[in-house]
Amino acid sequence: MSTSSKENVILFPFMAQGHLIPYLALALKIQSKFDYTVTILNTPLNIQKLQKSLPPNTPNINLVSLPYCSSDHNLPPNSENTDVLPYTIMINLLDSLPSLKPHFHKYISDLVKLNTPPLCIIADWFFGWTVEVAKEFEIFHSVFNTGGAYGMAIYYSIWLNQPQLQNEAEDEFLLPDFPQDLRIHRSQLANNVLQATGSDSWSLFYKRELSQTLSSDGFLFNTVEEFDQVGLTYFRSKLGQDSVWGVGPVSDYSMSLKSRASNGTSSDLSIQWLDNQDENSVLYISFGSQNTISSTQMMELAIGLEKSDKNFIWVVRPPLGHDINGLFRSEWLPDGFEERMKAKNRGLLMRKWAPQLEILSHKATSVFLSHCGWNSILESFSLGVPIIGWPISADQYNNSMLLEEEIGVCVELARGNRNEIRHEDVVRVIDLVMSNESKKGAEMRSKACEVKKMIENAIREEEGFKGSSVKGLEAFFAMALLRKKKMKMDQTM
Ligand code: UDP
Repeated sequence: MSTSSKENVILFPFMAQGHLIPYLALALKIQSKFDYTVTILNTPLNIQKLQKSLPPNTPNINLVSLPYCSSDHNLPPNSENTDVLPYTIMINLLDSLPSLKPHFHKYISDLVKLNTPPLCIIADWFFGWTVEVAKEFEIFHSVFNTGGAYGMAIYYSIWLNQPQLQNEAEDEFLLPDFPQDLRIHRSQLANNVLQATGSDSWSLFYKRELSQTLSSDGFLFNTVEEFDQVGLTYFRSKLGQDSVWGVGPVSDYSMSLKSRASNGTSSDLSIQWLDNQDENSVLYISFGSQNTISSTQMMELAIGLEKSDKNFIWVVRPPLGHDINGLFRSEWLPDGFEERMKAKNRGLLMRKWAPQLEILSHKATSVFLSHCGWNSILESFSLGVPIIGWPISADQYNNSMLLEEEIGVCVELARGNRNEIRHEDVVRVIDLVMSNESKKGAEMRSKACEVKKMIENAIREEEGFKGSSVKGLEAFFAMALLRKKKMKMDQTM
């Protein structure tokens, strides 16, 4: 372990790409800004993944494996990340997480015995029990939430108050502890919430972990104060006014884009295709790294795309019920769809993966049809691209509400991967958002520019000016240092 820096910060992300990536970005930010050593803990295969993503010659970032064997937990061998697991056995992964507690406890306890306790522990909300360990050793603890505050606030409120909410006779219910009157309709709930009984595995997991995290010393969010205040207010009412900080986006998108650009012209097919499209003319469609839609929905989306006159790039994955990492078969789309779209230069299908950040930053890209995963939202926001929402699971439903109802950069086209959608709606919404004559589209584009500026300001730091996210991270570490100093003083008294 490196000893060159004064303080050591422990990070412990949940085992999903959408969590590991922002945690690594946070680690890099902490290391470069504060010159602390950062140690990321995880299971062996995820540590290997992180090792590959770590920029070369990064000093003072340690990656440490905690023992974990997926086959001990009714999971296929070597399944340590949500990206290799079907949804049906995801709960087994969640139920296996407390098995990491003794190893985490020993790691922290050894540091304390060596008289090198960490400055703080920053853990994912999936590891609510880390709060207990931190308290035992009197170490400052915070949750770093990779999602937005509004989405997570609704998520917390629903899980902590269920099943009472679901038992209400009405189709709509009021969240009892939300900062504003917010009525949630049943259709805005993810399947695992709708089916929750209070004593099923999902309910038990969420209730336990979420309530434990609320006794943490603080919450950091990968978000921006200026557009996510309602959600941050919710958490401030639970944890205290000065204990919740927006510090996002932690990923340095402009740096990633610059370093890719410096490698020369992109060899990726999607970028070459976009190079030949008109400015602001293309719809980019992706449901993220873990979600897909049903085959009927896929068919309707394709028909709608063909009937609309807008060009598109669509990242396709096998539909619901198939291995989403498997081969994509043309039978899931209308007969001859891909060939026709190609021949008319109307659309490009990318199989499984596309360079999303580069696509969103391309001048030909106009709108993003997204599942509203938080990383996708932050990327779209940072590049000023408005969104057509199609949330599919978890906090995505709430993120879509934030985007549409609070911020005004989104129109929701559909929800979930089981509901009916009609190609007429696909055509109508694409037209509403993309057509030059549409007032709504113009409003959304202008809002998207405002949000882009909010983000630029939040992460800006220069002579005489510090943005809200810069101040947030500084305030967090000031509090952690104060706590450590106080503890030392108590010990010497
Ligand atoms: N992503 C990508 N290409 C794809 C699909 C996803 O680069 O074809 C990236 C995307 O840029 C984002 C992440 O994967 O950084 C997806 O995270 P998000 O939180 O949006 O959704 P999740 O995959 O976790 O549901």
